[in-house]
Amino acid sequence: MNFKLFRNEINSRNFSVKELVNDIFLKIDSKDPQINSYIRTTKENALLQAENIDKIIQRKEVLPPLAGIPIAIKDNICTKGVETTCASKMLKSFVAPYESTVSSKLWSSGAICLGKTNLDEFAMGSSTETSVFGVTSNPWDINRVPGGSSGGSAASVAAGLCSAAIGSDTGGSIRQPASFCGVVGLKPTYGRVSRWGLIAFASSLDQIGPITNTVSDAAEILNIISGKDRFDSTCLDKPVPNYLTDLNKSIKHLKIGIIKECFEHPGLNPEVRESVLAGVKRFINLGAEILEVECPRFNDGIATYYVIAPSEASANLARYDGVKYGYRSKEGSNLIDMTSKSRAEGFGDEVQRRILIGTYALSAGYADAYYKKAQKVRTLIRKDFDDAFKKVDILLTPTCPTTAFLKGDFVNDPLSMYLSDLLTVPANLAGLPAISIPCGFDTKGLPIGLQLIGNVLEENKILNAANIFELDAQVIKNRTLK
Ligand code: GLN
Repeated sequence: MNFKLFRNEINSRNFSVKELVNDIFLKIDSKDPQINSYIRTTKENALLQAENIDKIIQRKEVLPPLAGIPIAIKDNICTKGVETTCASKMLKSFVAPYESTVSSKLWSSGAICLGKTNLDEFAMGSSTETSVFGVTSNPWDINRVPGGSSGGSAASVAAGLCSAAIGSDTGGSIRQPASFCGVVGLKPTYGRVSRWGLIAFASSLDQIGPITNTVSDAAEILNIISGKDRFDSTCLDKPVPNYLTDLNKSIKHLKIGIIKECFEHPGLNPEVRESVLAGVKRFINLGAEILEVECPRFNDGIATYYVIAPSEASANLARYDGVKYGYRSKEGSNLIDMTSKSRAEGFGDEVQRRILIGTYALSAGYADAYYKKAQKVRTLIRKDFDDAFKKVDILLTPTCPTTAFLKGDFVNDPLSMYLSDLLTVPANLAGLPAISIPCGFDTKGLPIGLQLIGNVLEENKILNAANIFELDAQVIKNRTLK
């Protein structure tokens, strides 16, 4: 249920917030065994939070901005006193001793925490198939993946098992699952939202953001979670505008750049191309000016990302040694033996693959050829975007080259899996905000996502264009889940 519908229910006073939240847990109990979007729910605490909101309502006091809104949190974001596992055996019994900045801002704004959602182990993946808690299903077709790594978050929103969910996006993990599940996913500008309490994957790329039913819900959450944080030195000290203000502004004369290289890529599924180009036509009808722009290094993003992200991951994951953190193997005759056995048993295959790629790319003798070269290409990709934004206000691409694929299709074919991130990683490499919105369906009835990329800190522009598109398209209204 989107925020507006949920608030209508609260305001109608037919139900208390506690009853509404209880209802969602009943739905989770009946539907989630099939979807597996939650790793764990936090019902007891949620009902206490709901009771508190009910008391504020009874006392007729001013309600906080997200009063009663039920939200799920990806399980790589720390929530105090609750197990936070990154879907890994390595952290299976880790109870977070502190609350992440994002979740703490949500709870103090009246939102209610329903629980923690499933993900690819340590947020490395595009299908939510590598979780130690099992695969998540796509609510549109349970034989298919929901995308990843925030697949649990996107699936829970799509299946109506929360009103919004929080994800993290290092190379597309908010936008790609949002696209596969037919919901809205926003990755903010790098540094717009604090990463304090987000378990690090690749620190120069990671960013937290919302997955929602509507664009305005995403804007509301961004209003709450943005802003400087003394616990995260990469967090920008820039004023936070009200992201709802510009949402309904006309987009007449807004200049939208179509990135030529994306639409020419041989890996782009023809049905996705057609649907996104139909979306472009709708933008034209709404008065936007469409320009073709070149970003010659856009398609190099994937190779660049798969050097930089594993390099940073290999450094970030060095802390899991079975001593300071994480699972400790029962075997091991000395410290080095115990540490390597703990890491071999605690991490799954994909995480180990990333650590190996990363340590190789950073090792003496290879760092210049791989890591430093990737950093140079990253700068060129950023420059392509800078040039493009001299000509246009926002950029448009499909979110993913395909719609949701079948479970098992790529688990043993990592390179093909990596290609799923082709169109999302460039925004992370350049630190830009980007949103995925539903724009249609393929002939199998699977959702297709359209991506809008903005210049640094210009979330308001992509949210505005996305909102006008959503209102015009009524995609959300016409969506019917099987
Ligand atoms: N699919 C990408 C990867 O596996 C992106 C992951 C993410 O954004 N967390 O690295």
